[in-house]
Amino acid sequence: MAPARGLRARLARRGWPVATAPSGHLAYLLCVDLLAVVWIAIVFARAHPSYESAGVLALLTVMALAFEEGVSRAARLQLRMSSDLKRDMTSVWAVCGAVALRPASATALLGSVVVYVWFRQQRPAGQPLHRKCFNAATALIGCLSAGFVVHAGQHVWGGLPWSLSGSVSVLVAIIVYTTVNRGLVTLALTSVGVRGRVLLGSRDDNLIEIATLCLGGLVALAVLHVPWLAVLVIAPMVTLQRGALVRELEMAATTDAKTGLLNAVAWEHVAQREIARARREKYSVAVLIIDIDRFKLVNDRYGHLIGDTVLRGVGRCINDEVREYDSVGRFGGEEFVAVLPEVDDAEALVVAERVRARVNDLRVSALLDRVGEDDNDILAVSVGVACWPIDGDELSDVLHAADGALYRAKAAGRNQVLLAERGSGESVVPAFG
Ligand code: GH3
Ligand code: MG
Ligand code: MG
Repeated sequence: MAPARGLRARLARRGWPVATAPSGHLAYLLCVDLLAVVWIAIVFARAHPSYESAGVLALLTVMALAFEEGVSRAARLQLRMSSDLKRDMTSVWAVCGAVALRPASATALLGSVVVYVWFRQQRPAGQPLHRKCFNAATALIGCLSAGFVVHAGQHVWGGLPWSLSGSVSVLVAIIVYTTVNRGLVTLALTSVGVRGRVLLGSRDDNLIEIATLCLGGLVALAVLHVPWLAVLVIAPMVTLQRGALVRELEMAATTDAKTGLLNAVAWEHVAQREIARARREKYSVAVLIIDIDRFKLVNDRYGHLIGDTVLRGVGRCINDEVREYDSVGRFGGEEFVAVLPEVDDAEALVVAERVRARVNDLRVSALLDRVGEDDNDILAVSVGVACWPIDGDELSDVLHAADGALYRAKAAGRNQVLLAERGSGESVVPAFG
């Protein structure tokens, strides 16, 4: 086995990190790639080219490549941000090919799109080639399976009026393509231990995928009946792609990548809005500043990676202990902030105390592995609490007051919650305007 490991290590050093993946996973990826290659060979060996199908293929290929070229810049940006291959529009051409083209033409269409997208978008964005090959193979196997079922099914529903039989074909193609493609990808993910909701993907990703599949169906129907109408689908495709990019940019601009909470700028924006609303509707708003106690020690003892796991865990504790409407952000380093609208001093202290106690109970497995169950005094937070408008008329005043309370909590021994001191300079202007 040693030479194999040596070869794998060399491949990994040469930019193929997949070479060090578990053997079962590697074997599975290779089998899927091989199946796609064999199927392509069979399809081309049995092809009967015709001028008519060459014309439709040329039209679709030009459309597909023109679309991909048009969205190349946006797609590269999107890939660099999320490194997610799911969001490309390959399924449009896969579904369309399955319904409207013979297998060889469908393969040629999908193949040109896949190669073009690789060179113009995915390679410049640093995507690994093995992932691309696997995704291309699953798309192709999905497309050919869907095409096979649709053409076999013509005996069953081919006699229906054309509008109905076309719709059935599209529906069947979408179902078969999605089942095969998703099934193959899910098996690959589970073979490296991915479980649960991650396998299903986010709601937004799934909606985009459904929209993409529907567009594929519409192009197929247009190609079968009025080929030039297929061009009309380009505008919704561009809109879909751009919509996904805008959402991605919005997420990146407002989210703290390490914890998934709001980042400081986004949190401040939300808190300002809450105070403006409270000013109009005359209720109080509580602000908590939560700082992990002696966090530097966690980093020093266990390293920054475990420190990051602790940060995420504490962020989750805070989020779990506030209401859905409250907003939690990471202010910087190991400091978090929460804004609780329509909450007064007394209620805010209760929430803050809940957060403090919850963090005391937090068990980070990576940490336990190294220190054992007994060492439970490591994770603690100190919390400063202040309220608008009692502690100040502006958000900055309230934050200043909460920060003063946090400072006192640290000085008093940490792992505790303190309310801003009124009339001591911590709090500024009292008044409901
Ligand atoms: P105190 O109880 O007084 O708050 O002590 P502390 O050690 O928590 O505070 P200090 O300000 O001395 O140290 C904060 C540490 O937080 C130092 C820094 O290395 C660490 N830190 C800041 N940001 C991150 C991060 O993103 N990840 C990790 N792992 N550590 C971080
Ligand atoms: Mg700290
Ligand atoms: Mg700090």
